Amino acid sequence: MGLFSRRKTKFVDSDVLVIGGGMAGCGATYEARHWGRDLKIVCVEKANIERSGAVAQGLYAINCYMGMQWDENQPEDHVRYARNDLMGLVREDLGYDIARHVDSTVHMFDEWGLPMMKDPETGRYQREGKWQIMIHGESYKPIVAEAARKAATEIYNRIMVTHLLMDKTKENRVAGAVGFNVRTGDFYVFRAKAVIVAAGGASHIYKPRAVGEGMGRTWYAPWSSASAYALPIEVGAKMTQMENRIVLTRFKDGYGPVGAYFLHLKTYTENAYGKEYESTWYEHTKELVGDYIDRHPVPTCLRNHALLEEIKAGRGPIRMVTKEAFQDPHKETVGWENFLGMTIGQAVVWASQNIDPKHTNPELTTSEPYVMGSHATCSGAWASGPEDYAPDEYQWGYNRMMTVDGLFGAGDTIGGTAHKFSSGSYTEGRIAAKAAVNYVNDMGKDAPQVSEEEYENLKQLVFKPLENYEVGRNEIVAGTVSPSYILPIQGLQRLEKIMDEYVGGISSHYMTNEPLLSRGLELLGMLREDMNHIGAEDLHQLQRAWELNHRLVASESVTHHTLFRTETRWPGYYYRGDHMKLDDDNWHCFTLSQYDRQSNTWALEKAPVYHIVD
Ligand SMILES: Cc1cc2nc3c(=O)[nH]c(=O)nc-3n(C[C@H](O)[C@H](O)[C@H](O)COP(=O)(O)OP(=O)(O)OC[C@H]3O[C@@H](n4cnc5c(N)ncnc54)[C@H](O)[C@@H]3O)c2cc1C
Repeated sequence: MGLFSRRKTKFVDSDVLVIGGGMAGCGATYEARHWGRDLKIVCVEKANIERSGAVAQGLYAINCYMGMQWDENQPEDHVRYARNDLMGLVREDLGYDIARHVDSTVHMFDEWGLPMMKDPETGRYQREGKWQIMIHGESYKPIVAEAARKAATEIYNRIMVTHLLMDKTKENRVAGAVGFNVRTGDFYVFRAKAVIVAAGGASHIYKPRAVGEGMGRTWYAPWSSASAYALPIEVGAKMTQMENRIVLTRFKDGYGPVGAYFLHLKTYTENAYGKEYESTWYEHTKELVGDYIDRHPVPTCLRNHALLEEIKAGRGPIRMVTKEAFQDPHKETVGWENFLGMTIGQAVVWASQNIDPKHTNPELTTSEPYVMGSHATCSGAWASGPEDYAPDEYQWGYNRMMTVDGLFGAGDTIGGTAHKFSSGSYTEGRIAAKAAVNYVNDMGKDAPQVSEEEYENLKQLVFKPLENYEVGRNEIVAGTVSPSYILPIQGLQRLEKIMDEYVGGISSHYMTNEPLLSRGLELLGMLREDMNHIGAEDLHQLQRAWELNHRLVASESVTHHTLFRTETRWPGYYYRGDHMKLDDDNWHCFTLSQYDRQSNTWALEKAPVYHIVD
């Protein structure tokens, strides 16, 4: 036993364990109580659900609302929209399932006191765009968290989940999870009949544009650390579309959102010389992707593509033309409020750089890539679909159950379902919880059992970085460079550099190819070896060490998927230089991967895309 064996172990038993109390996790916790009145529902969160996850600082719009009560949109319309934006490849069964339930979620938020902007004449929610409705959403997360808190049997804040536990009596069945309290250092063993992973997406996989002291300024939340992918991957759950990493066009340096600007304020973009540029790249893009460029709305990745090409042609920076819209005092107010409810940092950046959008058109930029499943992208776990709607091939168990028995997912965790956003993620949490409760009820007395040996081994592994540091630091008298360990920040920067240079990050304009990807995998393999020598000087750094571990696993997955899909499906998100064209004949399909931890190997395969909605 190592130095840290005297740490306390605490046991928590539950029927349904929800990992991550963000939007999807709160939705799952709330709904699990609705269907499982007498069940023990536990939610475990590495921060505090009051202000955790990507919605922590609030939102200005709910981006997924059908408006069926006013016949504004139907679920089928949303499936068509998401399919079009993702160049044909979405799980239509899962998307439809969210779209048909999402309005009821939003109506609950309204009832719970979320300030919604309403049209004073019609009483309808104020639209920002076809799918988006506007809110005063600074307190969005606390409102949603309150309902989850009231529904849960127990919420465990400040516990970072590091690993899932598997049943010792039945192969391929989940039995719980382990983690540690980031404040007390206690080790936690959560034993559960069903587990819902709702641990958000992944930033800091790729080197960010802002480095050094500014590295926390990323578009996606810097604390989104890929646990949603690493936890299921490590126990052999299949993943899909991990190559579909997203790149965002945003206001430069603050990553302030552009949605309200384009949709509501009707601002538009131009190059450094005041010229419209998207049409310049029409023929060129058509060469690459064929008719997809003629779709309406133009897919998000293709709009990025035109912007990137224009910059590469030497006509950057690209600017958002705000000077016209901001002459209208109402629009000027909306423009600023948009940031105050969601990305205050952008307003601060503009103030610090002498940019008043009424007089200066601000620059746009493209972000480093992120991995997520809820925005204009659909990376994540391969999940079973709804009983009444999914094709046979997409159904092997309960709705939203992964390829591991009893392991469910929602939000950024689940792949194939782009454009769910905050409301759709919450809705998917509800859907997963209902199915998980059914799973628990059907289980009867055949409950999973946890192996003591497994969690004791994990306990040693989890605290090993503290021991590495404690022992290794005696070899150095000053500074942070040790012959025996690497610190989490050093490992993170190494990971980001590998992903940036070999797997299509910002420094190569998102370009990669087979030789680069293969070398990238070798380098990631070496980093994986070195993870045994991570040193953590305190519990905070221990959390960073495990976040890095999860990011590394997700990065390997992204790289394998990118190598497997020998086409450029989403120009503007990434490019395969050796396969620059979209290839519908061979790649109108999903990519699936499965990791085997015994052999440390990855298996990749294709899965069919079924178009259910015409
Ligand atoms: C900048 C930005 C702008 C956005 N704008 C909009 C918008 O305008 N409208 C809209 O509708 N949506 C918007 N979204 C999208 C929305 O925030 C996401 O779709 C949604 O939050 C995803 O829900 P989730 O539950 O999957 O992830 P999250 O809400 O991020 O929740 C994940 C939770 O898991 C926890 N967690 C992670 N790892 C662990 C672990 N190992 N152990 C324990 N807990 C863990 C996290 O702390 C977090 O609480 C935006 C997102 C961002 C980042």
